[in-house]
Amino acid sequence: MRFSKMLSLVCVVVLVSALLSPVCAAQTPKYVFLFIGDGTGIPQRMATELIVKGEGGEGLLLNRLPAYGVTTTRSFNSLITDSSSAGTAIATGFKTVDGYVGVDPEFKPLETIAEMAKKKGMKVGILTSVSMDHATPASFYAHQESRNMFYEIALDMAKSGFDYFGGGALLDPDGKKSKNPGKNAYDIIKEAGYSIFVGREEFGKITKEAGKVYAYNDRLDSSMALPYSIDMKPEDITLAEFTQKGIDLLADHPQGFFMMIEGGKVDWTCHANDAATAVKEVMALDEAVKVAYTFYEAHPEDTLIVVTGDHETGGLTIGFAGTQYDSYFDLLKPQKISYDDFTKTVLKEYKETHAGKANFDDMIPLMKEYFGLEMEGEGRLVLKDFELQELKEAFVQSMSGVKVNVGTIDYLLYGSYDPFTVALTHILNQKAGLGWTTFSHTGLPVGTSAVGVQCEQFNGFYDNTDIAKKFISIMGLEPTKVASIN
Ligand SMILES: [Zn+2]
Repeated sequence: MRFSKMLSLVCVVVLVSALLSPVCAAQTPKYVFLFIGDGTGIPQRMATELIVKGEGGEGLLLNRLPAYGVTTTRSFNSLITDSSSAGTAIATGFKTVDGYVGVDPEFKPLETIAEMAKKKGMKVGILTSVSMDHATPASFYAHQESRNMFYEIALDMAKSGFDYFGGGALLDPDGKKSKNPGKNAYDIIKEAGYSIFVGREEFGKITKEAGKVYAYNDRLDSSMALPYSIDMKPEDITLAEFTQKGIDLLADHPQGFFMMIEGGKVDWTCHANDAATAVKEVMALDEAVKVAYTFYEAHPEDTLIVVTGDHETGGLTIGFAGTQYDSYFDLLKPQKISYDDFTKTVLKEYKETHAGKANFDDMIPLMKEYFGLEMEGEGRLVLKDFELQELKEAFVQSMSGVKVNVGTIDYLLYGSYDPFTVALTHILNQKAGLGWTTFSHTGLPVGTSAVGVQCEQFNGFYDNTDIAKKFISIMGLEPTKVASIN
């Protein structure tokens, strides 16, 4: 083949593949999705990717978006941020002190991109798999001195005027932990014009005629969050379903919408060092991204999707001394239950029925049933002598009920979690070739990926405050000066 002919063939191939692959369109987006995986750093994205691929899947959509950047996460006062300062940075473009929500280090309110979008005439949706008054969703609508002021945050939710809230319920609706308790927060939210829908049946009946909507699942954990994906039942509403509902409710608005969707429990399970549960949570977030992506495919010139994390949690890494250069991710598959459900149901029931007569041998069938760990045989799930020793010591600690304090050797082993459960997930994760360094957050940067209008702006290395600045520029938002909102 002549060189010029070959060159033109190459050009055609490049052109065709450019037309087929997602590109970053140029104008102002009408439909904007911001996904935040709480505690979802590059290790969480990568470990899940490898595990999904190992099961014959094509990997995570959130890792295959055409733009990919690395985002630093430090807060105003710490290299290792918390979710409220990180959420505030992403939502406002300003650093603040850990624990503060939507306010600067001097407690002055900071306008959020969600509020700016609302001011511009867009509809706004805030979705999360944890409680609606939790740090990350609150960072987009609330302005409070502490992330723990749940009652005040719920009142800010009522005041926001946003169009759709979906996910978990409220932690302190009656203001029992508030210095200024008042009327029930759900009633105040209703008085502010919201219709509240609880559970799948009511959720299925929500239509655009409902006006402003707050929908939450009726089966919630003790923190008013959705159950872990690994523990979900068919009646539970998934983050992907909450996302689809947002599209159904908001998309035909002439000025479009801004939706923030948080996968909040990746963080919680990584605090507890439970990789199998974390993988399922990242997959649930990816399912929600897929819903947005299907919408993007129908509106490629008008849609922007960004997927980031607020920080990494747990110090998860791929590679463990015990497995050297190998990994065996399929070993996570037999785990059938989250650390949380195992502690709060299986182990709790055992403790209640075996007070004073606890015996490690009773755990053998439970370890097999819920985690696939075996006492004898040939496979990699068979416990080695030193692993059995670790489990026996953790079992004694667990049954003693003694609280583990920070600064002790036991804290390094178990954090503030049930010792036996942590020992189980540690051993299973290590057998798979995954390691953890902490029960807290880390200072690792996170990955940010994007597709759609001006998505190329999310390539490169930048700070979490730059995410808000990029949204302001791309969406043509007009921030009011700091501290000028009430
Ligand atoms: Zn956390």
